[in-house]
Amino acid sequence: MAPRSLKKSNEQFKRALKSLPLGVSSNFRYWGEDKTIYVKRGKGARFWDIDDNEYIDYRLGYGPAILGYADDRVDAAVREGMEVGGVFALATELESTVAERIRKMVPAAELVRFSISGTEAVMAALRLARGYTGKDSYILVEGGYHGLHDATMWQAMVEKMGPGDTVPPLEPFSKGIPSLIKQMIHSVPLNDANFLEDVLKQHSDKIGAFLIEPILGNSGGITASVDYVKAARELCDRYGVLMIMDEVKTGFRVARGGVQELMGVQADICTFAKALANGYPISVVAGREEFMRKIGDTVAHGGTYTAHSVTIAAANKTLEIIDETDALQTIANFGTKLQEGFSKILDARSVAHVWVGHPSMAGLFFCEQMPTNYRDWVRHDGTLYGVLAQHLHDLGILCEPDSREPWFICEAHEDGCLDETVSKFEIALDKALAELGRS
Ligand code: PLP
Repeated sequence: MAPRSLKKSNEQFKRALKSLPLGVSSNFRYWGEDKTIYVKRGKGARFWDIDDNEYIDYRLGYGPAILGYADDRVDAAVREGMEVGGVFALATELESTVAERIRKMVPAAELVRFSISGTEAVMAALRLARGYTGKDSYILVEGGYHGLHDATMWQAMVEKMGPGDTVPPLEPFSKGIPSLIKQMIHSVPLNDANFLEDVLKQHSDKIGAFLIEPILGNSGGITASVDYVKAARELCDRYGVLMIMDEVKTGFRVARGGVQELMGVQADICTFAKALANGYPISVVAGREEFMRKIGDTVAHGGTYTAHSVTIAAANKTLEIIDETDALQTIANFGTKLQEGFSKILDARSVAHVWVGHPSMAGLFFCEQMPTNYRDWVRHDGTLYGVLAQHLHDLGILCEPDSREPWFICEAHEDGCLDETVSKFEIALDKALAELGRS
């Protein structure tokens, strides 16, 4: 097999760098000057870069392409949405149709508002929780990610925890985030209800919201136990704190009703984005009527591009497919088969590993024990993962080079991707083990 050439991508990078910081439109897309990929087009579970390298994609734009790229059913609906005319600074009927379906799929979503991105939906959720409770502080979970806004761009630096430390230092993801915000944040480890209760006991008079991804979609899918989520639900009620479930990654993916259905726990407020419209930019903040009615009463929400005729049409069709077909079962089945295929190869070489998360968005960690919170993540072998990922990329299998991003599955992976992925995984693993002197 000819080695992958990124000649045109490398040239494009030099050109792009003159107009775009890092040569890209989102920092996460920069993979180094000789590794940054520029895409020509995608279809189904595959895409082609400008050098005509073909990839089976397990990143799917960090999750949105739940059905696959350029899905004919969604794109036909999108064309009809274009005919409607865009945005009018007025409402359309289709908004109610989509909201009604979301209400049916997610019982806690008694009322729905549309935004554009996951970031905006979480910003709206947090504002709503603060507006309702009158309390500004909030709780974040270590290893969580909730978008590019100042309130949540704080990371628990578990790598910096020393012996005897009970909490990791909390640092902003970026320069430019006001340090004053830190005073409003309490950070807790996943799956430790006692820790959460201690925080609430001491500070609940100031805490308006507990913001959680029960499956940590940006920490490989490390998952909360159902008992923990139920305990957290009960604690939030007891201490007058609103529970916001950020389902931007899990929503309409891990189950029709998202992680709330999977775990049998309902949020006060929840957010959705990625799988909602198969890649078209639309998001949702939803929740219990008691809280959501504050929007338009005392809490502001809106935006020029909300419920754009194209994106709302995409959401309408995508949700119809997810709700009325076996798409999610197809996705989960493929994910399970992929894990079985990889595990067989890893076991044959005695490489310790665990799978975390849900088959539709699973993390592969090279470690002995199942991680139960983000502090456990440091115990995995990131070197092997990184080297393996590079070999997979060269063979046309695209996963994120950072193990914290899960392997995303779409409905279109079913079309003949399994055997190719598993056999290339075997080649890539052997190359990685040889490179690291572990064969
Ligand atoms: N919340 C979660 C759980 C996410 O994973 C992300 C993005 O990955 C966001 C919020 C932010 O979404 P967006 O990138 O659409 O702003």
